[in-house]
Amino acid sequence: MSARPAESVVDGSKASPKELPSIDFVLRDARVQALLAEHGHTLVAAQARALLEALRERARLGQLPREELATDSLQAALRERVEQRLRPRLQRVLNLSGTVIHTNLGRALLAEAALQQLLQTMSGPNNLEFDLARGGRGDRDELVEDLLQTLTGAEAATVVNNNAAAVLLTVAALARGREVVVSRGELVEIGGAFRMPDVMAAAGATLVEVGTTNRTHARDYAQAVNARTALLMKVHTSNYALQGFTSSVGEAEIASIAHEHGLPMATDLGSGALVDLQDYGLPHEPTPREKIAAGCDVVSFSGDKLLGGPQAGLIVGSRAAIERIRRTPMKRALRLGKLTLAALEATLRLYLRPERLAQDLPTLRLLTRPAAAIRALAEQLAPALGEALAPRFGVEALDLLGQIGSGSLPVDRLPSAGLAIAPRQNKGRGRALDELAGALRALPLPVIGRIAEDRLLLDLRCLEDGRDVHAFIDQLPRLRQALA
Ligand SMILES: *Cc1c(COP(=O)(O)O)cnc(C)c1O
Repeated sequence: MSARPAESVVDGSKASPKELPSIDFVLRDARVQALLAEHGHTLVAAQARALLEALRERARLGQLPREELATDSLQAALRERVEQRLRPRLQRVLNLSGTVIHTNLGRALLAEAALQQLLQTMSGPNNLEFDLARGGRGDRDELVEDLLQTLTGAEAATVVNNNAAAVLLTVAALARGREVVVSRGELVEIGGAFRMPDVMAAAGATLVEVGTTNRTHARDYAQAVNARTALLMKVHTSNYALQGFTSSVGEAEIASIAHEHGLPMATDLGSGALVDLQDYGLPHEPTPREKIAAGCDVVSFSGDKLLGGPQAGLIVGSRAAIERIRRTPMKRALRLGKLTLAALEATLRLYLRPERLAQDLPTLRLLTRPAAAIRALAEQLAPALGEALAPRFGVEALDLLGQIGSGSLPVDRLPSAGLAIAPRQNKGRGRALDELAGALRALPLPVIGRIAEDRLLLDLRCLEDGRDVHAFIDQLPRLRQALA
């Protein structure tokens, strides 16, 4: 191979493309042979070719230090490439953003019970659609239907891929080719191109807007009903709040107008908590049980927001409405997979023991964590982080305000605490903070904070004692290295 004598390494000379070794030469190295034995020829040879191609390009530009062609460097670079290629793209991160249910960070964390259920039922065949009592074909919805009946008071329930699908399916099943009446103040856009008017169109229904942006009255609904009307609908304004001179009509009143005309009424609850959050010291969030009691024929909500389970759309309501929804062909296209059903069933079962829920359900555990405990953790971690980031950055523990996230209680703030990291030098603060945020994201267990007011804030509400705290501390030497 063309690695040059030591002098050329010392003088920092650059290699020319001609000096690159052949792929066979690289693969003959004893350490690379071990890599081949572990991973096989296909992957290792492909990465060796890619490595040599990248080195050749840099050599052509006169930018390749000759020492990178030493066999030691080559085999180390190849090993790194092979490992990088095998690394999962979807990985665990530490959510220190201050938003507990963060859509970009995978929303609700699964409970231990859900993880165990997944492991136990997914490693072999299972009774997904097999009735063990009768020995015949079963319905996958039945795995969770009675739990949802118990937890919401509804006559029937079905489940689909997510709440967007639940709304689409509800409208398609109950109002295709006909009109759906919705208040102008509730034509929400949820992130990711979910807009009520578009959903109506996709489901083949005609949207009839009533009222105004700030005020809608019962008579607006009543006047909109005609022979083409199929459904009155209320949408929970989950990611914004109307304040000031406003009025909206409650579910009970809309439902009674609908029923007077022999029509069904549906509500899209968005997050939908299965328990009264006030019992746990949190702000009240509407529950499906309240909406069923108010007379809604269909209530839909997400599985991975406040419910604290996997991504899913839960639809509960009257037997007649749920039957129509089940019989719609689109239901088959939107149905839940077995992984989700396993995790959902285990999560819902936790709600049978509400006294234990704040321990057993991570979402509720994180939301109910006392600010004082979070502050104590911040005080405890500040010196170690300060040491890792000195002298470029200063670190202090402080009180913060976080949020629930994912369109739950958009204006409520959760008293929390965390660490504020500020560059010591005024010049280039923005760049220093970006570099710091990048270094945190590049850690083996990436740390996601938020930048606000010229500081990087790490809200510690979601850094749980034990595993998370240890992981955070264990990474500090790497962080120090990365910023050195
Ligand atoms: C979040 C939300 C949805 C979408 O639910 P997904 O489960 O994310 O599909 C629909 N409507 C409202 C009001 C929401 O808040």
